[in-house]
Amino acid sequence: MYSLVCIECGKENDEMKYKCICDGLLEVRFDLSRLEIDFKLDGRDLKVWKYRSLLPVKSEPVTLKEGGTPLYRLERLEKELEIRRIYVKHEGLNPSGSFKDRGMTVGITKALELKKTAVACASTGNTSASMAMYAAKSGLKAFVLLPAGKVAIGKVAQALMHGAEVIGIKGNFDDALRIVREVCERAGIYLLNSVNPFRLEGQKTIAYEIVDEIGTPDAVILPVGNAGNISAVFKGFKEFKKLQLIDRVPKMIGIQAKGAAPIYRAFKEGESKITPVTNPETIATAIRIGNPVNARKALRAIHDSKGLVEVVSDHEIISAQRKLAKNGIGVEPASASSVAGLIKLIRNGEIERDSTIVCIATGNLLKDPETVIRVCGEPKMVEADVEKIMSFVTQIS
Ligand SMILES: *Cc1c(COP(=O)(O)O)cnc(C)c1O
Ligand SMILES: [Zn+2]
Repeated sequence: MYSLVCIECGKENDEMKYKCICDGLLEVRFDLSRLEIDFKLDGRDLKVWKYRSLLPVKSEPVTLKEGGTPLYRLERLEKELEIRRIYVKHEGLNPSGSFKDRGMTVGITKALELKKTAVACASTGNTSASMAMYAAKSGLKAFVLLPAGKVAIGKVAQALMHGAEVIGIKGNFDDALRIVREVCERAGIYLLNSVNPFRLEGQKTIAYEIVDEIGTPDAVILPVGNAGNISAVFKGFKEFKKLQLIDRVPKMIGIQAKGAAPIYRAFKEGESKITPVTNPETIATAIRIGNPVNARKALRAIHDSKGLVEVVSDHEIISAQRKLAKNGIGVEPASASSVAGLIKLIRNGEIERDSTIVCIATGNLLKDPETVIRVCGEPKMVEADVEKIMSFVTQIS
């Protein structure tokens, strides 16, 4: 019912491949006219595997009950920014604390189908945490390559505790990905970065869940690193439109950090290919990527949806992280860039007042406690004495 097609030359590839002989990215394509949809868009029982009829697996899924994340409406922010509806979908509440779990549940299931015994990824952190968890669940061996010293501590902790072989390299994410791609090829290990088209199939369920709960928004805003997620989410909306479950697709708006913005640059210059950034830098380590592998898919998604790309500074990211926290939503810096981008776009008059906007909060606050302490400072120390605490409390209140 599906095939693996090159997005550049249209050639069909077999399931073991991550790219075409022409070097093009691959995409799962369903024969939607012959598909039997067995779910109802009733806003109930949201989870990745509710949409199994649109997921390319043949076997029983390896699942940790991913998806079904809350979609919060931020009324206070709507008033402040004078926008009709603002929602935040908190992907940080997935099992490992990021949206990567949606992709991993499908990717690991596929690894088993293909009779692989080991999986690997390069990671800015969350892919490794998620892969380690799902590999543990399924009994697969897991190898992780990280840019040493540039991964938030919570993510490293997860990869280690769930039993992955964690290897730090003296290089950035782009170096790690280049190396792991070759190692996987030579050692017959299954690669679970977002060049793997099956992972993106899992991640497209973000779009399905949004539609299931509130219908089609006017725009979806999300942080862009390796650019897989924005491509995946757009694919989800496009498939629902082809199935006539919705009658339009939202604008896809990608947000990059100023120090790691190759897609923003390509978008501004009207290019369909990016020029890699050699030394990407940002406090939002999850999107500290200079050579995004899915750039071609992402630029198409942005173009086809009449969306756009914006950049935000580290300062804007942290300020949005605090704003979300004040609304009861705890996220890591990269996740806050979607809201930082929204605020900037509204200021620049690029969002209509009457819009319904969904921002994707990609990862959990607990992922990066060190940045939090740097930004908020250490807790105050007061002597263990009732009077001292009383005088402290009464001074504050
Ligand atoms: C992976 C990740 C991103 C970037 O997603 P891409 O698909 O690489 O663009 C953004 N935020 C968080 C928290 C992530 O873990
Ligand atoms: Zn091709």
